[in-house]
Amino acid sequence: MRVFNAIMLTITAVCIILTAFLFEVQDTATDEELLASVIVLEQKNSKIDIEENIDIDVEENIKIDSTNNEDSAENTEKIEEDKSEKIPEFFCIHKTVDIKNVSPTCTTVGEEKVICIDCEEILYEKNLEKIPHQYVTKTIASTCTKAGETYDVCEDCGEKTNIKTLNPKSHITKEITVKNSTCTTNGEIQTRCTLCNLVFNSKIIPAKNHNWTVYSKTNATPLENGLKLYKCTNKNCTVKKEEKTAFTPVGTTNLYIPSISFNKEVVLADCNQSNTDKYDICCDLDLLKGDNPVFFGHNTRSFSQLHKIKVGDIIYFTVNGKTSVYKVTISEKATVVNGGTEIRGFSSGVDLLYNDIDNAIRFFTCYYDIFSTANRWMIIAEKI
Ligand SMILES: [Zn+2]
Ligand SMILES: [Zn+2]
Ligand SMILES: [Zn+2]
Ligand SMILES: [Zn+2]
Repeated sequence: MRVFNAIMLTITAVCIILTAFLFEVQDTATDEELLASVIVLEQKNSKIDIEENIDIDVEENIKIDSTNNEDSAENTEKIEEDKSEKIPEFFCIHKTVDIKNVSPTCTTVGEEKVICIDCEEILYEKNLEKIPHQYVTKTIASTCTKAGETYDVCEDCGEKTNIKTLNPKSHITKEITVKNSTCTTNGEIQTRCTLCNLVFNSKIIPAKNHNWTVYSKTNATPLENGLKLYKCTNKNCTVKKEEKTAFTPVGTTNLYIPSISFNKEVVLADCNQSNTDKYDICCDLDLLKGDNPVFFGHNTRSFSQLHKIKVGDIIYFTVNGKTSVYKVTISEKATVVNGGTEIRGFSSGVDLLYNDIDNAIRFFTCYYDIFSTANRWMIIAEKI
């Protein structure tokens, strides 16, 4: 539609110009000038219509053309001027502004600025000087490994000034047991700083070795080994050990009475005072019968403890490596009867030498009680 209008407008213009040409031939313009004017006008009108607005006042153009046809080139310029005047020239009243304030710090300057948002013109501008640093004094305390310092520092930007170094502290040394010794391993004592742990010296604590004590003991007999059980009494040590003990007979003819710790060799002889051995004992294997040995001892020597033997105690008698075991059946105070030839038990009335008990051994000692010379002590133990 716009194109159609343009064509129509052009045709109309041409007709008018031609009419004017026919009726006003007296005009001063030459034919060539007129023709050029028409061409320009054609081009111009066509351009205006197409590119700008179909509402351009055709009458006005016609009027312009008809009244200024004396100079077609000038007309064309006027048309151009008319068109530019229709676009209003921009004039900013700075209605909307942006205030850009940047506060100064101790390291950067600040500024105040007002800018028009529409035209970007800077309406107001002022630079602000840096503000002073805000110093506070800080102290880093010295340690024994590092010198401390004091300084002033700006709380805002961290700038330090007035830095002074402080003297380092002294080490505080102490002996510390870093490892206790045990019975089998060494320990260690270090001299070190209690503040920084720097070690100045190290000493070995030697291992203590076990401190053994017997907590259970079974004596060896001529028939069985004994057993000693040991434990270590050192703190935190629970080690135990055991030790077997063998019976050691004294000589080949041996008398062993565990209850009074008696373990001695005895001499086999006629049992009278002149035949006592170095332990003040004599043994007559067949004072009465060959299988009923009799022992005699003086009170003040080896048999002085005879009265401590109790009924039920065990006695081992070894002759030429052969051991027999006896159990005590009589242990009592006795007295001498029949002019000193017999010894009779006070309680049992048993005659030590002549009472007929088979497979028994007999003991007696005189002066068991040193304040009563008439007293004896006698024991009979039967073979088991
Ligand atoms: Zn503006
Ligand atoms: Zn600062
Ligand atoms: Zn230290
Ligand atoms: Zn131990």
